[in-house]
Amino acid sequence: LISKLPNVGTTIFTTMSQLAAEVGAINLSQGFPDFDGPQALREAVTRAVMDGRNQYAPMAGLPALREQVAVKVRSLYGREVSADSEITITPGATQAIFCAIHAVVRAGDEVIVFDPCYDSYEPAVELAGGVCIHQSLSLPDFSIDWQKLADAITPRTRMIVLNTPHNPSGALIDGADLERLAALVRERDIYLLSDEVYEHLVFDGREHASVLRHEELYQRAFVISSFGKTYHVTGWKTGYVVAPPNLTAELRKVHQYVSFTGVTPLQWALAEFMAAHPEHVRELPAFYQAKRDLFCDLLSGSRFGFTRTAGTYFQLADYSAIRPDLDDVAMARWLTREHGVASIPISVFYQSPPANLRLVRFCFAKQEETLRQAAERLCAI
Ligand code: PMP
Ligand code: GLN
Repeated sequence: LISKLPNVGTTIFTTMSQLAAEVGAINLSQGFPDFDGPQALREAVTRAVMDGRNQYAPMAGLPALREQVAVKVRSLYGREVSADSEITITPGATQAIFCAIHAVVRAGDEVIVFDPCYDSYEPAVELAGGVCIHQSLSLPDFSIDWQKLADAITPRTRMIVLNTPHNPSGALIDGADLERLAALVRERDIYLLSDEVYEHLVFDGREHASVLRHEELYQRAFVISSFGKTYHVTGWKTGYVVAPPNLTAELRKVHQYVSFTGVTPLQWALAEFMAAHPEHVRELPAFYQAKRDLFCDLLSGSRFGFTRTAGTYFQLADYSAIRPDLDDVAMARWLTREHGVASIPISVFYQSPPANLRLVRFCFAKQEETLRQAAERLCAI
């Protein structure tokens, strides 16, 4: 067999979650809550199923849900978007990423990604016949080196992938970064994929620098989000893309043949819940900031080093005071097997990891009791 993805194996998320289950460790690896989504949302989906909302939704998604996304985009980011021609509901952000990449990347095109980089971008680029150009974020704060980015742009550059808040580091970009980016892509045939699935998980009063706020960048962007993250229902695999009409038209050409549409009753439930509970997204930053602070307060009694994460539900921790002899993959395994707490190593998200990277990622989207138990184990090392 000639593999089309010779460098792809099982994702680190599956690997670590399986190991955690195997040895009975507390699973702070793969990012998902260990608590349920809002009861009203779960009741709404039951009702949708029982009321016969079980046939195909329109290809672009239920109009009622697209309308709710338009309302949210207007109220949070001040942008008027058309539910008809600029919003597409997808079965998960992962499918949205795949479709956006396939909508514009042609054979031989270059796509610039920032390492450490979420693992689903590169296989999609490769399957489209493109090639990822990896640029490492600058340590220790995982910021973009703008000069290096300017140097990486060539006539073949077709797309740049942004991810803010950033998985796995939690780093945020700001409005000034968006301006720098706009200056670099101006008058060039370069599209943006802006992965904003953690848009509501931004802490300490900081603001999410959505590409939706930036007129010039938006005109060349696919902005992607995930209801799974926002409503604590990662297993629902429902997301969306906001893009200007010309890009949305191209995206839908791919989407209609990758999945055609998303799951109908989930879309009914999300539309109903969003209309009834607009406060949910406004309350999310404080909800997750409290979890971050609990976890970090507890972890300050350990030998791990860390700076409180600015966004996402992930906390990086430096273990060089504990096991400097282990690389991060070995460390994540050792922590899981010997100390009963699973995490995610960071080097797997790099094409060329920096030497002596001694960081693992913990997910704090967990109940207080889970965080307390995990921290107790981590403090005992
Ligand atoms: N992008 C990033 C940065 C993520 O962390 C995730 C997490 N799962 C996704 C995309 C995919 O989201 P979904 O589960 O909606 O496909
Ligand atoms: N995005 C999640 C994470 O970073 C995992 C999603 C997946 O398992 N593919 O942990």
